Amino acid sequence: MSVGVKSIYQVDRYTLGIDWTDGIQHRWRLAHLRRHCPCAACVDEWTRKRTLDPESVQEDLIAQSVESVGRYALRIHFADGHDTGIYSYQLLRELASSP
Ligand SMILES: [Zn+2]
Repeated sequence: MSVGVKSIYQVDRYTLGIDWTDGIQHRWRLAHLRRHCPCAACVDEWTRKRTLDPESVQEDLIAQSVESVGRYALRIHFADGHDTGIYSYQLLRELASSP
């Protein structure tokens, strides 16, 4: 069984929240999501090593919009202009359980 999104909302300017269809609720600081962006500009495609310097992401980063990609992922348009990261639901749930 795959988990879906029941609702997506902004907890505050800096925090995204999702209620999953299995009843679990998660919240992420947008800066935290940006630091774990899975796109090719932030992670080396061959070595999977993160090339993005986490220090370069401001703690008060906000998002301009969030859009659904199919039925399995979200695309976040960050205010710093970065919007190439596709955050699969699986990745989002992994990021929620790591500090
Ligand atoms: Zn990226």
